[in-house]
Amino acid sequence: MDKIRIDEIDERVDSATVQRPLTDAVNAMNVALNYYELAPGDSFAYGYHMHEKQEEVFVIQEGQVTFETEEGFVSVGPDEVIRFAPGEYQQGINKGNERVIALAIGAPQEAGKSEIRRACESCRERTPNTIERSENGTVKITRCLECGTETARFE
Ligand SMILES: [Zn+2]
Repeated sequence: MDKIRIDEIDERVDSATVQRPLTDAVNAMNVALNYYELAPGDSFAYGYHMHEKQEEVFVIQEGQVTFETEEGFVSVGPDEVIRFAPGEYQQGINKGNERVIALAIGAPQEAGKSEIRRACESCRERTPNTIERSENGTVKITRCLECGTETARFE
């Protein structure tokens, strides 16, 4: 048995306002578990993305999340759960005025190949992106894989 307090787990630099990785803290063996808080405008993810081998489930506890999905935009609120299959593209963004609190569960832990797409100003379209960590580790930068343009910074 493993029990933790979520607010005792250190935050990680991420696209989200607050991300606390819980997987290792509870010694989870088969699922990846993350706690999220999203201020208005923030996202769970660095872009519209998919994981080749991992399904993802989001449990929204507070606020309202707008997911861009392959089937259009879907709004998910408290007491609702949304699940994406491996290979399915999605991105959840807080487009409301309230802070979002949510849990994300991914399985298996090994996600396989992941692809992230963001709008690139130079290419004038959504392109595959890579994520870099700044030298001091406090910033993450997304960059267009086709032309090298920086598409966003997350601190
Ligand atoms: Zn580009």
